[in-house]
Amino acid sequence: MATPTSHNKKSSSVKRILSEARELASDPSTEYTASPLEDNIFEWHYTLRGPSATEFENGLYHGRILLPAEYPFRPPNITIMTPNGRFELNKKICLTFTGFHEEMWQPAWGIRTALLGVQTFFSARDENAAGIGSLDYPIEERQRLADCSKEWTCPTCQCRNIDALPDPDPCKGSRKAESLPEGLTVDPDGGKKKKEEDDSRAEESKGAGKEEKVLDRQREEERGAISKTANRQDRKNEKQEEKEARREEERCETSLAAVGGSLEVSSEPVTPRRPSATTDPSRYAPPPSTPSDTASGHTGEAAQQHQMQLNRPSTDENLQKLAKIDKAIAAVLCLIGAILLRRIF
Ligand SMILES: [Zn+2]
Repeated sequence: MATPTSHNKKSSSVKRILSEARELASDPSTEYTASPLEDNIFEWHYTLRGPSATEFENGLYHGRILLPAEYPFRPPNITIMTPNGRFELNKKICLTFTGFHEEMWQPAWGIRTALLGVQTFFSARDENAAGIGSLDYPIEERQRLADCSKEWTCPTCQCRNIDALPDPDPCKGSRKAESLPEGLTVDPDGGKKKKEEDDSRAEESKGAGKEEKVLDRQREEERGAISKTANRQDRKNEKQEEKEARREEERCETSLAAVGGSLEVSSEPVTPRRPSATTDPSRYAPPPSTPSDTASGHTGEAAQQHQMQLNRPSTDENLQKLAKIDKAIAAVLCLIGAILLRRIF
């Protein structure tokens, strides 16, 4: 195993790689084993068992895992060194999570995920098995290679496969199957397909975006038209209201004038302007006798106006009431005048 002294221990990649190495050593799998080279922790060598119930089931396969400096943010590249009839030797295996399909890789995945992916990809069939670095050897040849693979020894790390990954102890149970993490596919074209799907989806959404924009513009225009119409309607209503208000004002002025006139009439008798001139109490009796008699003329005029007011076809109750009050006041004044006259004479 690599010693951390040869690498920058502060590097997050180095920390992560060392942590994975410790974890793999402390919790070994029956399906694979892997460890970094002593002089380079960015290069690991692995030994992987062929997937069960396949022609590779008896095989043990050794290979390299090359980790990028940006690991785990970029995926590892995996090659196989043991002859197997499924993958070309020393060529990067085209898996969705390897360097061929970087966009599929998730930093949460690790060496274990990568090895499980290779194991699953071993058993892929037909077009799923095709791709860069794939071989289509006959089953018998694959089985023969599998049987030979146990004794295969790595020229780099000098590790024999059967020593690296001994057959599981039958007393401890058979092989323990491990499942791939969610989101990981081993379809060699999966990444490509996904990219195409993503692209078409992006295109669709772009198209949808355009449609949405057009719709938005239409809506905007409709809103504008509606608001213009509304404004026109508002202006119309305002004009109508103004007219109504003017008419109302006119009506008020007319009726005020009428009331004012009536008040003028009614105020006349109340004012004791010339009590001494009220020689004849009969002066309040309508109609006036002669225009030369100023007092009686004036009062006669008032009475006439009063009468006119009363005779108006549009007389309302208020005017009638005022007229009655007028009469009552006039009567009281007459009485006062009579009393005063009696006292004097
Ligand atoms: Zn090796």
